[in-house]
Amino acid sequence: MTKNIHIIGSGFSALAASCYLAKEGYNVTVLEKNDTLGGRARQYKKEGFTFDIGPSWYWMPDVFERFFADFGKKPSDYYILDKLNPGYEVYFGKNDSVKISSELKDIYTLFENEEKGSGKHLKTFLDSAKSNYDTAITDLVYQPGVSPLELVNTTTIARVSQFFSTIRKQVRKKIKSHKLIQILEFPVLFLGAKPSNTPAFYNFMNYADFGLGTWHPRGGMYTVIEGIVSLAESLGVHFVTNANVEKIITDTANNVTALLVNGAEIKTNLVLSGADYHHTETLLDKNVRQYSESYWNKKTFAPSSLLFYVGFDKKVKNVSHHTLFFDTDFDAHAKEIYDNPQWPTDPLFYANFTSITDKTSSPEGKEAGFFLIPLAPGIEDTKELREEYFHKIINRFEKLTNQEVKSHVLFKKSFCVNDFKSEYNSYKGNAYGMANTLLQTAFLRPKIKSSKVDNLYFTGQLTVPGPGVPPALISGKIASELIIKNKK
Ligand SMILES: Cc1cc2nc3c(=O)[nH]c(=O)nc-3n(C[C@H](O)[C@H](O)[C@H](O)COP(=O)(O)OP(=O)(O)OC[C@H]3O[C@@H](n4cnc5c(N)ncnc54)[C@H](O)[C@@H]3O)c2cc1C
Repeated sequence: MTKNIHIIGSGFSALAASCYLAKEGYNVTVLEKNDTLGGRARQYKKEGFTFDIGPSWYWMPDVFERFFADFGKKPSDYYILDKLNPGYEVYFGKNDSVKISSELKDIYTLFENEEKGSGKHLKTFLDSAKSNYDTAITDLVYQPGVSPLELVNTTTIARVSQFFSTIRKQVRKKIKSHKLIQILEFPVLFLGAKPSNTPAFYNFMNYADFGLGTWHPRGGMYTVIEGIVSLAESLGVHFVTNANVEKIITDTANNVTALLVNGAEIKTNLVLSGADYHHTETLLDKNVRQYSESYWNKKTFAPSSLLFYVGFDKKVKNVSHHTLFFDTDFDAHAKEIYDNPQWPTDPLFYANFTSITDKTSSPEGKEAGFFLIPLAPGIEDTKELREEYFHKIINRFEKLTNQEVKSHVLFKKSFCVNDFKSEYNSYKGNAYGMANTLLQTAFLRPKIKSSKVDNLYFTGQLTVPGPGVPPALISGKIASELIIKNKK
């Protein structure tokens, strides 16, 4: 008998899962509410400019290679990757920035010049980061989060103290320079929590940063989505866009029997949801939901964001493809995200100008700029606040980088908390899911298989292993493996 499965959503995790399930012989239908595929990794095009709406940092190239290799393919069969040099640039003040080279030896020199003796500490730190990366990426993050025992092996037992210490403590033990601390604490921000709330074991993100480097798929991150969609189609996956799943219908034995899609019932006997976990549960009757509203409310979510996609009518100076503005107090901003949610007084922000290295993203002589301010999920979002913050950061940007850009804005489009909710059904408008804190790691995250509905599974950034594109690909793999195993 043909095995049918319906997948809700088309983010990286859902797309990855669709490939694994189709390869296994499932008849896969992906239902996406928006008019394009890719989830948070969609694309915005205007007047010859092209912007990635969501992810822009391509880290952990080995995870992408491993994904495509599972289908006898390589990333280069679908897109061309360039290693960025510098990987990125960090501003600490006016005309005061450092560039993070793609070469480790240059990074050691940068550290040594900033703080004598820090190069040696960096070497020890990166040795531990690499070893954690090998343990985490070859094994731990590919576990389905079913049992605590998945985390127990001789390597992790030897490193148990790293689960109970934090990145912040580990970094600050030996390094004293404020700038170097900021640089070393930056990578774990991708995991969605403060460095003081992220286990030291996650220093493997520093190996991903300095050891593996920052890459750019020519044409932008969306080319990766296009690559996976093309792979999925070659495996027979059927995609339906503008397909809003409004209800997951269960029978008296608590099995899914149908989905209500744009008002019409579609019969099904197996469902995997790659939509935000919290939202998916609200599509079920209350008696078959696993987690209460208070459960979700107590969790640490990754920040939301205020984003601007800006077309400039000239080239912008003194910036790199990825540029971080760490000239204000990170701790104060973090408090306003996590501890006392409010619009930040003096926000850190991130800007990217892909057109510096990728000529396809803007017309010649112009620049495509993307600005991101991390914000507390769930806070008020108005047109006025967006505008106020655009001016706040663009004024700072001009001062720090020593140039005038405001009169060169051809257009700008914003995206914020309300859009995350309406476009992706995101819980409190989070941008990238549930953070990886100690109590939100592995088997402590929301489960891949529903404990109440036998034929309902979940994938994506709110379940294992966590936020980010590489984890989403991994999530798709482990969710589909669990489905395949359970149905044999
Ligand atoms: C602004 C931003 C910047 C980021 N930067 C980076 C980065 O640089 N590098 C990195 O690795 N990661 C980054 N991330 C994180 C990364 O993009 C995400 O972790 C990842 O893309 C999430 O994939 P997903 O499969 O979990 O789900 P999503 O991408 O959220 O996809 C879920 C899909 O489900 C659909 N859906 C929801 N409800 C329904 C419904 N009822 N019916 C049908 N469909 C539905 C949604 O429309 C959406 O398409 C960033 C995220 C954002 C938002």
